[in-house]
Amino acid sequence: MHDLMIIGSGPAGVSAALTAQARNLDFLWFGSPELSMKIQRAERIRNYPGLPDVAGETMQQVFLRQIEDAGITLTPERINAIYPMGAYYAASVNKKVYEAKAILLATGIQTTKTIPGEAELLGKGVSYCATCDGFLYKQKKVAVICTSPKFEPEIEYLADIASQVTLFTTYKGCGIQKGNVTSVAGYPSKILGTDHVQALVCQGQETSVDGVFFLKDSVSPAVLLKGLEMDDSHIQVDRMQKTNLEGCYAAGDCTGRPYQYAKAVGEGNVALHSILEYLAACASSNK
Ligand SMILES: Cc1cc2nc3c(=O)[nH]c(=O)nc-3n(C[C@H](O)[C@H](O)[C@H](O)COP(=O)(O)OP(=O)(O)OC[C@H]3O[C@@H](n4cnc5c(N)ncnc54)[C@H](O)[C@@H]3O)c2cc1C
Repeated sequence: MHDLMIIGSGPAGVSAALTAQARNLDFLWFGSPELSMKIQRAERIRNYPGLPDVAGETMQQVFLRQIEDAGITLTPERINAIYPMGAYYAASVNKKVYEAKAILLATGIQTTKTIPGEAELLGKGVSYCATCDGFLYKQKKVAVICTSPKFEPEIEYLADIASQVTLFTTYKGCGIQKGNVTSVAGYPSKILGTDHVQALVCQGQETSVDGVFFLKDSVSPAVLLKGLEMDDSHIQVDRMQKTNLEGCYAAGDCTGRPYQYAKAVGEGNVALHSILEYLAACASSNK
């Protein structure tokens, strides 16, 4: 049982992790080894205090060095689901489960919207993780919606297991060359099924499938953690970055506009201080 899990490694997560480390919290931090593509891809950043007119790649290197110097470990894994367990939270990834008393969501904003059927059929044929659930589809038909070339090894893995893979990519130049993988243009509009996935619809065309894999960096927080109050696509928080769920906080783009580094960093810091207060209150009520 840890004190805290931080989910997300953009500026909001970095800021929270630095403060958590400074305050000697026992915490786990999940995210991408490159931290955030939204840092890496920025051509020039001109509005971040202390780093005037800097390239995104430079800012990324500065953040990485600061984390290393602080002795912080990032666990390079994508959390697939979070469960409120009463006095603590459980987060699952690749068949592993981690537990902590408090949780900070710093997952950024997802650019792809959830499609009808995605949240409803999660765990009933819809999955966000090929490594975790691929084995369920041996010699079955699956559809994959992939948002980045970095997930292509997961498609290859599915192609080795499934009989047929119908692939939708949101980028050009997919490198997958397997006989049982068929690339389809467009983006699916809905998933059909009641107790389990039955088919996927794209441009009015139905494709019969047993499973649907979404391979994307960021999953809607409401899908990740059921019961979270949302305001359109943003997590509702108060000025302490507290969500409607006890012990659950959120920071950065996932809480709303403006989508800016300085706002994300500031919220990560506020959230961490709120979490310190929450943990102290929990400890004193347990005495
Ligand atoms: C091209 C571009 C240029 C920009 N230029 C500027 C600029 O000049 N100035 C400015 O202020 N802002 C700029 N922005 C906006 C800025 O990048 C964002 O506001 C900022 O990155 C938000 O930080 P964040 O920590 O909230 O989320 P993000 O940076 O989106 O990071 C979230 C991270 O969490 C990870 N994650 C998500 N879900 C999970 C999960 N379930 N498990 C584990 N990890 C997860 C993601 O992979 C990602 O790495 C730019 C954005 C882009 C795309």
